[in-house]
Amino acid sequence: MPKQLPETADFLKQAERNATLEGVLPLARLERLSEILNDNSGELFAKLHFTSGTGYLGLHGTVEASLDLVCQRCLQPMKYPVSGQFKFGLITSEKYEDKVPSDAEPYLLEGDEQSVVDILEDELLLSIPISARHPNECSEFLQKQNEERRVEKEKSNPFAVLKNLKID
Ligand SMILES: [Zn+2]
Repeated sequence: MPKQLPETADFLKQAERNATLEGVLPLARLERLSEILNDNSGELFAKLHFTSGTGYLGLHGTVEASLDLVCQRCLQPMKYPVSGQFKFGLITSEKYEDKVPSDAEPYLLEGDEQSVVDILEDELLLSIPISARHPNECSEFLQKQNEERRVEKEKSNPFAVLKNLKID
């Protein structure tokens, strides 16, 4: 079984050790993400590499998960695989922001421990499209619903009557 990731870590200490954290986290621990999921019973897989040998303290990694979303077209549940990458320069004060390379985002270290959950959650939230839909065809449910709507529209269209009267 894959190892469980810690929800928080001392990023500074991890960077000094050039540590790598790798493992899974239940999606249910990600509260903001859970709110938009149809079902939050799955888990994410992530790798976090802490570095200190490049002139600055860094954290980069990847996160992936198969999210259970609601299709915005047919409103049926669907599995949506997402993945994201992140790269941070760890700083102890805002005055060091310009020491962070341009391809990394400054991350201000506050307190003794930082949230692993927040970083991964932000990344997953960014990777979800605003209007997630089944990639190709939606379910039969949608087709049936469309058909019903079409029939309903024709029934309620007052011009349908006029069309019949027009015939000489
Ligand atoms: Zn759909």
